[in-house]
Amino acid sequence: MARVCVTGGSGFIGSQVVRDLLQAGHEVRTTVRDPSRAPEGLVDLGPDIVSADLGDPESFRPAFSGCEYVIHTASPYVLNVEDPQRDLIDPAVNGTLAVLNAAVANPSVKRVVLTSSFAAVTEEPEGTFDERMWNERSSVDRNPYYFSKTAAERSAWGFARSQSQFNLVVINPSVVLGPSLVPSVNTSNSLLVGLLRGQYPGILDLDYAIVDVRDVAKAHRLAMESPTASGRYLCTAEVWSQRRLVDWIRGANLGLGKPPRMGLDNPLGRFITRSAARFQTPGSRDYLLTHLGRHPRVNTEKIRTELGMAFRPAGETLIDTFADLQRWGHL
Ligand code: NAP
Repeated sequence: MARVCVTGGSGFIGSQVVRDLLQAGHEVRTTVRDPSRAPEGLVDLGPDIVSADLGDPESFRPAFSGCEYVIHTASPYVLNVEDPQRDLIDPAVNGTLAVLNAAVANPSVKRVVLTSSFAAVTEEPEGTFDERMWNERSSVDRNPYYFSKTAAERSAWGFARSQSQFNLVVINPSVVLGPSLVPSVNTSNSLLVGLLRGQYPGILDLDYAIVDVRDVAKAHRLAMESPTASGRYLCTAEVWSQRRLVDWIRGANLGLGKPPRMGLDNPLGRFITRSAARFQTPGSRDYLLTHLGRHPRVNTEKIRTELGMAFRPAGETLIDTFADLQRWGHL
């Protein structure tokens, strides 16, 4: 069993990574910005909780002391921010480099697993995607969250090549849904809240490449444990259209909220959505303009064969997510 430090244990994904590692018998330390405010769901798991901030490069060095593995999940995940450079790109890129510098300063660290994203693979998801593909379109002015993940992952690969102490393995999850150990609703689960709270005027022509948070956590552990793991791993279970999601919600008779009815997933609907997108906040506008009418397929052969991953069906994830959103009082 290994000693591992997980950055961002207070997050939706980070807390599930901590849970999965502890259940598998590993010794886990995790960083949060302020341990006195660590969520109860994380504290109850019983990891060693220490303080570190992506804006303070020195803070990670003591956190990684004695660890063989570092799993770096901490990064801001928001679409709409005031200042994309300050609020997204700096913490993602400088934070990742701070984490890698701290890893190299601790000779015990032999592997770093980085939580990147499908956002580092594409921002225009049309066609079939695999690990060789990179997002080359995003910038600080266009889908800055996507740019932050792409730039952070590229910096990480550059850093990893410059040293030989640890190897880097990267997980690229798509839209992560599932039950949460922490009270806040993160950006991906809030999609479901928005659908039931009437935030969508109609059914949009959007596809979601869905993956369960518990599977994402397991993928990080397998990437850590497997001696032969290398490179990037796309991490997706199924691609669902917003229409399929809405139909599923109606069929499940959840008795919660009001999913949209009007079909905007047609040429006129796409025209209306595109026009209306221009009046949205920049993050939502860019997302709509780059994703509307695009239909991705995700080739997950690498993660299935090399790490032995099998994914929960999206329907199972949705049942558990809606029950959990209700439990937390978000619906
Ligand atoms: P989340 O719940 O918002 O968690 C983000 C985590 O990052 C929190 O622990 C947060 O700490 C930490 N963080 C943010 N800024 C920080 C800073 N300046 N210093 C230290 N910690 C900071 O989001 P999530 O969905 O779990 O995302 C976790 C990771 O997965 C991110 O790297 C994200 O890009 C990636 N990802 C997410 C999805 C998805 O659909 N959810 C998909 C692909 C990739 P605080 O609690 O202190 O704010």
